Amino acid sequence: MTQQAYLGLGANLADPEQQLQEALARLTRHEGIELLACSSFYRSRPLGPQDQDDFINAVCRISTSLSPLDLLDRLQAIEQAQGRQRSRPWGPRTLDIDLLFYADLVLHSERLTLPHPRIAERAFVLYPLRELLPDGCLPDGRRLDELEPAVRGQSIYPWPQPD
Ligand code: AMP
Repeated sequence: MTQQAYLGLGANLADPEQQLQEALARLTRHEGIELLACSSFYRSRPLGPQDQDDFINAVCRISTSLSPLDLLDRLQAIEQAQGRQRSRPWGPRTLDIDLLFYADLVLHSERLTLPHPRIAERAFVLYPLRELLPDGCLPDGRRLDELEPAVRGQSIYPWPQPD
């Protein structure tokens, strides 16, 4: 049985746009994952320390035969393969992949929280996610479009920037 899931991708080191393209290619190469759609790309200022480059972000929809934890393992393996180093919390990274939604599963385990707990706080997740899920809601019933005003102060731009 396959399930639909949504992934949030971000990178701000080593040609971030290429990092996202490479991650999408790696996802499609896995036999338990099919890439169904990807949002446009965005450029965002980091939320933590400001002495680092902007991030490039996107969200994709996949269908997968993997369990949530097997999928998380796969995402972390892709992060590692692309040289992710955790230098400091909120610091720069070559690739970060978050599991945003897995079907309509609500889960709180040691390794995995679903939906991802910080969707509502992050413009770089909400904007691309709404492209793919315009009528989407969190499990508590809050609509994604209702959450946008709270993140409007965050710096986020379409990427590549229009002339
Ligand atoms: P981060 O450094 O932000 O990529 O966080 C990675 C850690 O968050 C890992 O240890 C994961 O086990 C944990 N985690 C919990 N829930 C999620 C989720 N929905 N997506 C990705 N990582 C998660």
